[in-house]
Amino acid sequence: MLKSDVILQRLAETWLKDYFIYAPTKSGSVLRIQEIQDFRAIDWSGSMPANSWKEIIIPARERIFDITGDKLQTTAGQQPLTLCLGVNVLDLKALMLLDLVFSNDVYYQNRRANLLIVGYSSDWPHDYQKLKVFSHNFEADVLEHVPFDVFIARIKNNKLKFYSGSEKGRKLLETNGIKDFTNIKFAGAVAESGPDKRMMGLQTKLENSLKHSLWSTLDDICLACGKCSNVCPTCFCFDFVDKIDPNDARRDRVRSSCFYNDFSKLAGGFKELATIKKKIFFWYEHKFVRIPHQYNLPGCVSCGRCSKVCPVGIDIFKNIAKLSKIK
Ligand code: SF4
Ligand code: SF4
Repeated sequence: MLKSDVILQRLAETWLKDYFIYAPTKSGSVLRIQEIQDFRAIDWSGSMPANSWKEIIIPARERIFDITGDKLQTTAGQQPLTLCLGVNVLDLKALMLLDLVFSNDVYYQNRRANLLIVGYSSDWPHDYQKLKVFSHNFEADVLEHVPFDVFIARIKNNKLKFYSGSEKGRKLLETNGIKDFTNIKFAGAVAESGPDKRMMGLQTKLENSLKHSLWSTLDDICLACGKCSNVCPTCFCFDFVDKIDPNDARRDRVRSSCFYNDFSKLAGGFKELATIKKKIFFWYEHKFVRIPHQYNLPGCVSCGRCSKVCPVGIDIFKNIAKLSKIK
């Protein structure tokens, strides 16, 4: 076993004593992020897992409150001390966006405060092209613009390079005897050179593209199943589901998707997204137009998960290439 593997396994074994750990592991031939019990199960290939970290950060269903009689109960995002181990650079970019979107959400923030983020790359952090990125400029200083506590990069000759991104991260490294690491100071979500130019270039093209033949083609083949938005690390739409009876009331926040039938239904039955064409356009428009407009960040981190799960082979890589050609 390589020396770097021994060090990674030793760290994971130690951390497992103090934290719940989620990490990429092989489930059959599929790489999935899941809770681990055995540090040897962790996959250190640096490949893109099929599911996303949002399963831990934004549960598919969470209780907002329970009112029994006149007693109000709220869990407000409880989360045991959990270590997310092996988060790649694109998923850190997605986490950056979620942190901004939910910056005033007490449920998200309570949970987030108990998460330690340990990033990982199987090369230098800025070499994230290997994750098959399709629409980003590549920043040499990428770690300055994403949230993490510790980042571990496996660089040349299988050497490990350690970075700390927070006080918690620094302590985590030092208490494990790692003294040689680089402190990274967070410099804001948007790079000093300005928003990502390639992604922002798509904004105007996509915004005015509803008449493009692509959307009619997708209207014919998309099933509106919502699998793509379910695995997407940046899709965060939710719905509230209420249960009320004479004495008690309960509210749950439930993950939703713009592909679902009732997503845009208004009182009176009107649906803004009444056709598949409108739904899929709305999905892309949110990622490539409205989120960039609001946060100066792309709403898509190019992870490719949506294309992998689509049952009818709709490929965001090809669609973005087509839209990029619009004059
Ligand atoms: S996974 Fe494919 S078929 Fe399902 S909603 Fe997404 S694009 Fe449409
Ligand atoms: S590539 Fe697909 S799954 Fe990944 S961030 Fe973009 S839209 Fe979401």
